[in-house]
Amino acid sequence: MTYDDKNVFAKILRGEIPSKKIYEDEFVLAFHDAFPKAPVHALIIPKGPYIDIDDFNSNASDAEILALSRAIPKVVDALELGNKGFRTIANAGANGGQEVPHFHLHIIGGKVIGPMVQG
Ligand code: AMP
Repeated sequence: MTYDDKNVFAKILRGEIPSKKIYEDEFVLAFHDAFPKAPVHALIIPKGPYIDIDDFNSNASDAEILALSRAIPKVVDALELGNKGFRTIANAGANGGQEVPHFHLHIIGGKVIGPMVQG
């Protein structure tokens, strides 16, 4: 599978559509989900063209992987999620329910999130 640069997150990275930015560095962008599933719903994405978590962790550089991991506490702090907790999700592929084929971590909180997986 090849990376499709017409996906919505690639457009956000190119500045073709807007996003509500939370955090940005050389390798990472974090922004609010446009269709939040909880009171707080952020997305953390690498700036590089990786399809999913498997592609990212297989092919990204150490610096990109480190930057994405380090961005998590920065976003958690910015959104004040640390005390009460949050959920991190990375959907991958059709069975994983991934809609946007650019790797992203969901950071979801602001209320008690329901069961991890439904039947
Ligand atoms: P996934 O199903 O894991 O691929 O998640 C994709 C996420 O992207 C969903 O939670 C959508 O609500 C979110 N989303 C779709 N379009 C946009 C957009 N333009 N800006 C921010 N988030 C978006």
